[in-house]
Amino acid sequence: MSEQRAAGAAGMDIGFFRAWIDRAAEAIATEKDRLTALDAAIGDGDHGANLHRGFTAVRAALEAKPPASPGALLTQVGMTLISSVGGASGPLYGTVFRRMGKSLAALDAGDGPGGEPGADPDAESDAASVTVSVSELAEAFQAGLEGLTKLGGASVGDKTMVDVFAPAVDALRSAAADGASAEVALDLAADVAEAGSRATIPRRARKGRASYLGERSEGHEDPGAASAALLWRTLAQTAR
Ligand code: ADP
Ligand code: MG
Repeated sequence: MSEQRAAGAAGMDIGFFRAWIDRAAEAIATEKDRLTALDAAIGDGDHGANLHRGFTAVRAALEAKPPASPGALLTQVGMTLISSVGGASGPLYGTVFRRMGKSLAALDAGDGPGGEPGADPDAESDAASVTVSVSELAEAFQAGLEGLTKLGGASVGDKTMVDVFAPAVDALRSAAADGASAEVALDLAADVAEAGSRATIPRRARKGRASYLGERSEGHEDPGAASAALLWRTLAQTAR
């Protein structure tokens, strides 16, 4: 169990998730113009700006009101994205993070694997010391993916962020089942995520704004798929 929980020195604790979000926000700031250019080709050219605004608001919210656990942190990220991003991607990403947060919040009361159900009345301090295993993270991503597909109605092949999330979540789940470390599992998932984003290039969009273009959407990488791949890559970098 202990090597499964190891990710960097401290494990996947609240500091790990905070570091991921900071790194993701920085990557989005750096890649803002590329994401916007992708969206200009098959959408309305606001995806980079949308996410940059959203993750800037997220960082401010985490500073203003530091969350107590990994679950609370991801829930706060999701809520902030929903309230600060106007485009389709705000509610969609917001739902992914909120569902992940909800899944991880089950660990806060100490009723996760290794915890004693209801044993400690001091739930605050339990929550602060929660560390997330690779399989718990994979389960959280699975819940996030289910929320995303339920809200957006997209399937793999529709040229959306689902083309990245679905295979990356599968890869993470099977790596977790194989007992891989966070570093190995997340590196693998990030590779799969990037391949998923590249795979959107020849596809015809069937959901979202790009679907209005019909066959003219072919030959372009989907902007939401590209930003999703950034989230997965920064997660893997955080685990190193
Ligand atoms: P908008 O389309 O409102 O301008 P953004 O430009 O921020 O919003 O985000 C566009 C991205 O959102 C698309 O590239 C696609 O990946 C994703 N997207 C749009 N609609 C859906 C949907 N129904 N399901 C999943 N993802 C979607
Ligand atoms: Mg757009």
